[in-house]
Amino acid sequence: MITLSDHLKSIYGQKIYRISLSSGCTCPNRDGSIGTGGCTFCTAGGSGEFATDIISLDDIDTQIEKAKQKVIHKLPSDIRPQKQRFIAYFQSYTNTYGDTGRLRSIYEKVIRRDDIAVLSLGTRPDCIDEEKLQMIIKLDQIKPVWIELGLQTANDHTAERIHRGYPTSVFDDCFRRLKSADIEVIAHVIFGLPGESRDDMLATIRHLAFLSPPLDGIKIQMLNILEGSFLAEEYKRHPFPQMTMEEYTDLVAEAVSILPDTTVIHRMTGDGPRNLLISPKWVTDKKRVMNMLRRKIAYVSADT
Ligand code: SF4
Repeated sequence: MITLSDHLKSIYGQKIYRISLSSGCTCPNRDGSIGTGGCTFCTAGGSGEFATDIISLDDIDTQIEKAKQKVIHKLPSDIRPQKQRFIAYFQSYTNTYGDTGRLRSIYEKVIRRDDIAVLSLGTRPDCIDEEKLQMIIKLDQIKPVWIELGLQTANDHTAERIHRGYPTSVFDDCFRRLKSADIEVIAHVIFGLPGESRDDMLATIRHLAFLSPPLDGIKIQMLNILEGSFLAEEYKRHPFPQMTMEEYTDLVAEAVSILPDTTVIHRMTGDGPRNLLISPKWVTDKKRVMNMLRRKIAYVSADT
């Protein structure tokens, strides 16, 4: 298994930190364009709850400086490198949705900075048309661009249930177009979606494991039921069982063993906002989850 941190160290020779930025994009699944009212697990902050506060768009350089300071101040002074480089991470909402010219100028400004090593854009596969693909290709000629596609599940029945707003074939097609242009693609997967069995979740992993060319990276997280989402209302009316920490970590260890060795593991737990989290509460104990995962992954790897 390759973790993101090992992968980055092997390329850049130092730890590279992520800074969360806002492009000012909305999401077609929330603004009424698709008409589903948004993914049922999503709250008003878009998928960005899993990152930090949304910062104003006024000045992208100011956003970057503020986000850098947040990261740097958390590091012990003796390990702060002279020239720290960062991944500029646009996570909230759909960062390839909207006027291409506006987006191109923001992203070009970001990617040309010396302190930015990678531009990472979270988006939906139905929001990368030919114009956006050409924008991504041009940016990728300057520095690496990662495209993070929110798949969540490969099961179309679940996708309809969570109002994802596109069938899995759209993900597959977008993946192929991005890979034909040699762009790095990361898939975001959620375990524990309502109605999904262990086999359904592993089927999503197998779907991703057999993509050709191979998937570059994956983020896996447990479903967080957050206050303010449709799912929270559904859960309050009809609570459905959720996986325990033991069940989740077993499943992630098995998922990792199925994925190709070349697929970089970007994340195996989420960072849901504690103040909005309804269930499951164990996700907040990230240290324990990670320790359990490390043990189980080592065991599964030794066994295969
Ligand atoms: S695509 Fe992302 S931002 Fe849009 S509704 Fe779904 S989770 Fe929220």
